[in-house]
Amino acid sequence: MTAIIDLSPCEYFPVPSENLVAVGWLSKESDFELQSVDWAFFEKLTSLFKEPWQPVASAGWHTCGLCQFNSPRFHSNVFIPYDGRIFVAPEGILHYIAAHWYKPPDIFIRAVMNCPAMNSMEYKKALLANGGRNLVQAVASQNFRGPMHLSPESIDKIRALGLDVSSEPQFGPNHSSFPNGYVVIKPTSTPGNHVPGWEGWFKDHRGVETVTDAPGVYVWYKDAAWRYSVLNYVPGPGPGDFQRSTTNEVELLRKIEEYFFSPNADFEALKLAKT
Ligand SMILES: [Zn+2]
Repeated sequence: MTAIIDLSPCEYFPVPSENLVAVGWLSKESDFELQSVDWAFFEKLTSLFKEPWQPVASAGWHTCGLCQFNSPRFHSNVFIPYDGRIFVAPEGILHYIAAHWYKPPDIFIRAVMNCPAMNSMEYKKALLANGGRNLVQAVASQNFRGPMHLSPESIDKIRALGLDVSSEPQFGPNHSSFPNGYVVIKPTSTPGNHVPGWEGWFKDHRGVETVTDAPGVYVWYKDAAWRYSVLNYVPGPGPGDFQRSTTNEVELLRKIEEYFFSPNADFEALKLAKT
């Protein structure tokens, strides 16, 4: 990961913002004293990373440069408006604090303690009041251009699981339920959760007729969040149907993987109803 000295301008993102200040962008060469922090601060910072507001989709991940082995991977960033600036910290900051005794600058600690709940109206107001207009507008223009597409990395990861997804959205931009939506499908040849006796046919991304033994997951992007849904009943929802959202594309992939490959209540409800 790019190392940036604490409280210096963060130019990592493709959105220009003079008020964007980096905190916790560490590498092996970063110079910091080992210090403890208050649990309350760590807890609050952790909560802000649950559903972080992200003006730009983060592609790929960072790894910890301080760990010798088994470095954890990090995906998202938090934007914390305070005192006329927007502090931006990578998800790895939680690990740097917990495992490597890194203590962020005091002003960042105050910013975190004063930060409104992520994605609340107060949070958006604080972003605007502290020089985040460009960032907020970046999100607005993303929505204006139409829903985002899945990144090529995500498409590759989905296929690497043995699932199928098209490279471009399967539904048009004006589709009423799934604008610019995709369907992620598990071919019967891929082991995983399935509904015994249930069978569906689809054309895979190469155009090959393929059989599936599990209802697919619809995925689309709307109002700055990824939506994902299983819908078997019209009018729904019926047993096992759901629609959820996440702002994080990596989290989206985790949920899709869980739906198809781990024991989960949604799939159990579906199986019970269909068999
Ligand atoms: Zn580490």
